[in-house]
Amino acid sequence: MRMPNVTPPVLQLHPSRACNLRCLHCYSSSAPGEWQEQDVLLLSRAIADAANLGYQVVSISGGEPLLYSGLPSLLQETRRYGMRTTITTNGLLLDQRRIELLTDRVDLLAISLDGTPDRHNSMRNASRAFETMHSRLSSLRSSGIPFGFLFTLTHENIDDLAWVAEFAAAEQAQLLQIHPLEEAGRARSTLQGQTPTDVDAAITWLLVQRLSDEYSSRLRIHLDFLNRDALRDFCQSGWTSGSVDCSKSNRLADFISPLVVEADGTVVPLQYGFPRAYALGNLNDVPIMEMARRWFSQARLDWEGLWDRTSNLLCQTAELPFVNLYESVFAAASESHSTPFPILNS
Ligand code: SF4
Repeated sequence: MRMPNVTPPVLQLHPSRACNLRCLHCYSSSAPGEWQEQDVLLLSRAIADAANLGYQVVSISGGEPLLYSGLPSLLQETRRYGMRTTITTNGLLLDQRRIELLTDRVDLLAISLDGTPDRHNSMRNASRAFETMHSRLSSLRSSGIPFGFLFTLTHENIDDLAWVAEFAAAEQAQLLQIHPLEEAGRARSTLQGQTPTDVDAAITWLLVQRLSDEYSSRLRIHLDFLNRDALRDFCQSGWTSGSVDCSKSNRLADFISPLVVEADGTVVPLQYGFPRAYALGNLNDVPIMEMARRWFSQARLDWEGLWDRTSNLLCQTAELPFVNLYESVFAAASESHSTPFPILNS
């Protein structure tokens, strides 16, 4: 379900798990040597289908997307269908050739930054990750490609946020997005217990208010936590988000965003690694258009039930006001004992 959420619907592509780094917190366990790639023709077809199903943004991640040989084709395909493109990169490989390849084809380049240089290098598991990324920024700025930073919030790096905001503003980034750590993939073993607590979320919320005031004209700061009041309003409005009344819609994009295509072709809702019981299918077996048709006939009610259970639980809890909504849905889906979606194996 696309919940109280102002962003347009997103198709998230992970074309491969190949990466030049092996970060501690990588939810897809990407690394050098993980060379399995999705076929570019299958992904192009997925983009076309997603456009027809109401998705407006294609977000390309990985692995490191700058290593994916089919990237130019995917960008071209996205433009062809009038969709916007974002790319998430660790920034180390942004040489002049790659910057030229991206110029005028990308609406936002999101560069990972996890704290002060020492913290960043430690989380990136590379002694000069920050310095190399930093050295790429002046050419990127000259290219005119809009860029921002993506900060993975943990229990330990909240104190670095003010430094990161100052750095982002000084580098003329347009956006600082703060996303809580997902204890998935490699993070499950390397950063166990580092997921931000409710108290961390509340502190970060206050800090973001202050930083947003301080940098109001220079930097947009977005925090991926939801205020419980917004969730209550959404539930009480009968599942209406903006102009979209989900109860009357038959567009997949109004129910599932992001729609995630993992590196092996599995298509899941919301987050990489989402419980397989809720997978829509695999691109190698069936196109997304057909997955959507089956989803509406076989799985929509289960999905709505999952959201109802999660949101009711979150709304009833009278604790601190900020929630990591997608992580909560993920947790509820993991614990769900309901019959798995029949789609993946059909
Ligand atoms: S977090 Fe990003 S940069 Fe780090 S290993 Fe994973 S895909 Fe690569």
